[in-house]
Order: sequence, then structure tokens, then C-alpha cells
Amino acid sequence: MAQNQEYTVDPTRLVSPDPTPADGEENSLRPKTLDDYVGQDKVKANLRIYLRAAQQRGEPMDHILLYGPPGLGKTTLAGIVAQEMGVQVRITSGPAIEKPGDLAALLTNLQEGDILFIDEIHRLSRQVEEVLYPALEDFALDIMIGKGPSAQSIRINLPRFTLIGATTRAGQLTGPLRDRFGILLKLEPYSPDELARIITRSAGILGIPIDEAGALELARCSRGTPRIANRLLKRVRDFATVQGDGAIDGAIAVAARKQMDIDAQGLDELDRGVLRAIIELYGGGPVGLDTLAAALGEESVTLEDICEPYLMQLGYLTRTPRGRCVTRLAYEHLRLPVPRRLREDADEADGQQSLY
Ligand code: ADP
Repeated sequence: MAQNQEYTVDPTRLVSPDPTPADGEENSLRPKTLDDYVGQDKVKANLRIYLRAAQQRGEPMDHILLYGPPGLGKTTLAGIVAQEMGVQVRITSGPAIEKPGDLAALLTNLQEGDILFIDEIHRLSRQVEEVLYPALEDFALDIMIGKGPSAQSIRINLPRFTLIGATTRAGQLTGPLRDRFGILLKLEPYSPDELARIITRSAGILGIPIDEAGALELARCSRGTPRIANRLLKRVRDFATVQGDGAIDGAIAVAARKQMDIDAQGLDELDRGVLRAIIELYGGGPVGLDTLAAALGEESVTLEDICEPYLMQLGYLTRTPRGRCVTRLAYEHLRLPVPRRLREDADEADGQQSLY
């Protein structure tokens, strides 16, 4: 359908919170200590206590569950805990551990006190999860040897280790697994000021001159996410190199993001396409997720996981039992006339301005 074409977008998004090949230097930008880790003050304060307590008792840390959207610093925190405890960290992910044997291999290779970091832990298979329970509780593995009537279960003792699990949604974890974590830490999106500090720090490491206005401009369109902030920094550096003298100031940052089709709130074509489709094809909603995804030529899960959380956070989109609706703020952001029914609510809502 010709109409759909207009809304179809490129899947390699600059503002995606998931890692992309463009994030190659990510490791060099990771803070190594809690003091260098910007923001998340509550999480850091609690973690400092847990770390000190474990160190004073001379024991490994309790198992930790980190939850929050991608790109907020979960892997980085696992590395910091390892560094502070003076132990090694092994990094893997739920989908990478396909069979119980894969998990057994990982666990038996750990040293006393080591950290096993499992990203996307909600995606572990049930079979693997069952092997994990005794490992977490008793530091032991129960392995079946042989098949049929002669099968035997043997128990292998493991070194005492700390599991750090990361998930984007704690609700997706099974109850028994969640209950085995002694420490639950929730990461929140970062404020523009915090992101500006992260950008300035990364610019220092990468040797990119940037002023305060430039850092703040990039921070505001980084969707609360350090990974996006670092990625934008690297792309805007390219514009600064080619179109300026290599330094990033406010004007270069604005010009670059406009050339990359990212608006002042960090929305890209896909986000604006979602809002425009709801407005132009479905009168502002409600429209079901699957219908909307079909109209955009996208997968429902892409819209749900990648666009909607940020659009909802900005208050541009709401989920109702009958489907998705856009708000007055979305019309204003896109500079479209606000329908009368939404104008009537305007007095109640706070008068946020469009920044595009
Ligand atoms: P997650 O595991 O939650 O997807 P990561 O830990 O991989 O996120 O972080 C992505 C990038 O963002 C890393 O390169 C890291 O340098 C940066 N980052 C994340 N959190 C912070 C922070 N609090 N301070 C500074 N940089 C951060």
C-alpha cells in the first residue's frame, strides 16, 4: 500500500537503546568505580553499604537483580561490583545459555567470589532455570548421569559466587527465580543534567572538545539513556569534524541532530511516524497495537519495546483498554492542530512546550 510506505522506517536507529555495532568503544567508556558512575544515587548509596558489609564479613555479595530499560548501565554496574570486590566477572545472557550443560560449564569455571552476570535473565529456559536454583541457594549442581533406570543424580559443589541478573522487566521473571535474589536494584532513566555529565566524561576519554551547551543539547535528546548519549556524541563528532573545527558547541549539536532527523526531545522518524499514523489514520486513537504495527510495516514488539516506553514517558501516548491514543502534547509537538476534545482537557494538563 502506498500509504504505508510513507510510515515505514529504517530499522537501524540512532536512538535505539539496544547495543549496535556503532557502540564499539563502549567498554572504554564504562566507568570502573562507583564514584565515576554518574547518577542513580539511591542505587549507588545502597550498593555501597552492601559492598562494605560483604567486604567486612569477607563473604561474596548476595545475588543481585538489576532491572531497568536497556542502556542504563546494568552491565557497567556488574563490572563495578566486581572491581570493588576484587573479583572476576563473566558476562553472558539468558538466550546464550541454551542447555543446562552450558550453565554447568559456566558455573564450574568460576573462582571463589567471582561474579556471573546474566543479561536478559528473564529469557532463560525453564530447564536451565531449574539447574540454577540449587546453584544459587546451596552453591551446588545436581547432574543426571546416564539415562533410564540406571540414571544417577550426582551433586557437584561450586565455589561461592555472586549472580548478577539483569532484566528489562522484573515482571517477566518467574517468582521462584526472583525470590532467590537478595538484592533488587531498579535503574531509572537519567536526567538531562546527569546525561550531560556522562557526555562530558565520555568526550574527555575520546578527546572530543565539547562545551556545556553542546553537552546539554545532546543530553536532552538522549532519551534518558547513557548508551544513546554516547552514540550521539560520536556521531555529532563527525559533523563537528567535517563541518566545523572538531569541537562540539550548542549550534553544531543542534545542526547535527537536525541533519540526523532527531528532534529536540530525541524522537526520530519512527517515533514521529507512530504518532502521525495514530493521528492521520486513526483520528488520534484508540487503535490496537497490531493494527498500528501493520499500518507502519513494523513488528508489534518493536513498537511496544522500542517506541512506546519513551513516548509514554514524555506523555505523548497513552495505553487504554481499547488501544493506543495520542495526547494533546503529541499534536503540539508535531505542530498539528489540537482537536477540540483534547483542547478541553488542556487546562488540566501542564503546558509543556514543543521543542522541535
Ligand atoms: P545496560 O547493560 O543497562 O544495557 P550498559 O551498562 O552496557 O547498559 O551501558 C551502556 C553504556 O552507557 C556504557 O558504555 C557505559 O559507558 C554508559 N553508561 C551507563 N551508565 C552510566 C553511568 N551511570 N555513568 C556513565 N556512563 C554510563
